[in-house]
Amino acid sequence: MARLANKIALITGAGSGIGQSSALLFAKEGATVVVNDLDAVKAEETVRLIEQSGGEAIFIGADVTNPEQVAEMVEAIKARYNRIDILFNNAGISGVGVLHEIEPEAWDRVINVNIRGVFLPSKYVLPLMMEQRSGSIINMSSCIAEIGLAKRASYAATKGAVLALTKSMQVDYAPYNIRVNALLPGTILTPFVENYLRTSYDDPEIAIASLKTRQLSGDLGRPDDVAQAALFLASDEAKFMMGSPLYIDGGVTFGKNA
Ligand code: NAP
Repeated sequence: MARLANKIALITGAGSGIGQSSALLFAKEGATVVVNDLDAVKAEETVRLIEQSGGEAIFIGADVTNPEQVAEMVEAIKARYNRIDILFNNAGISGVGVLHEIEPEAWDRVINVNIRGVFLPSKYVLPLMMEQRSGSIINMSSCIAEIGLAKRASYAATKGAVLALTKSMQVDYAPYNIRVNALLPGTILTPFVENYLRTSYDDPEIAIASLKTRQLSGDLGRPDDVAQAALFLASDEAKFMMGSPLYIDGGVTFGKNA
């Protein structure tokens, strides 16, 4: 039996990286996936890949920071499927820089996408899950919520907030049989990280070597490593996981190399 058979899953930012990998995996495990992203071309490609391998998916565009667009997206899902079993709040952007050099507009952009972008889809999906008296919400945090890392003040602040939000959401919605958990990845090779490496280092080899010194694993993480963890939290196998941080970080948070 597929692990997500008959489930309807909404994944934000599913046109790229971890979101795309998760969409493919969830569909392979039987879910019907609603692929959300800002970028229609990338999201349609995710849908195409899913359909090509025999799965079911549709694209619904919405900017996760825009309440009207998010409400419309959730209404469209409700009209079509009349339920949402899994909400994966994955969309996010990076923010690089030391605090005194960050422009207020850049700060606001990161806070907006990474925190408001978790708040709004949750706000509009929760009433449906409460009516169903079931649901699994997965919020994308990062292991940076637990460790200090150079030049990531705004990004770290958002991911710490998402972890705190996850725990409080869990308390409020446990009575409705809704689980809310967080993923805390380390460095995962996605377009998001590749872009950071391009803009921050002259030599990609030095960049990769430097990233590896933070962790115990000899490899950087791949999108599928995180997708597998998301699949677990989404599935009924994780029925006793509530308000938990799940680390997928190659040993960054709890290990030390020397
Ligand atoms: P990615 O490849 O850049 O994918 C993120 C997707 O989210 C992109 O398609 C992006 O679209 C979309 N998006 C951005 N803003 C959006 C908005 N307002 N509304 C809807 N969609 C939006 O990034 P990723 O590496 O897979 O990261 C996914 C999540 O994991 C993020 O929350 C990130 O913070 C988190 N994370 C990543 C790592 C890592 O090492 N990669 C580690 C820890 C946590 P555009 O490209 O059009 O902006």
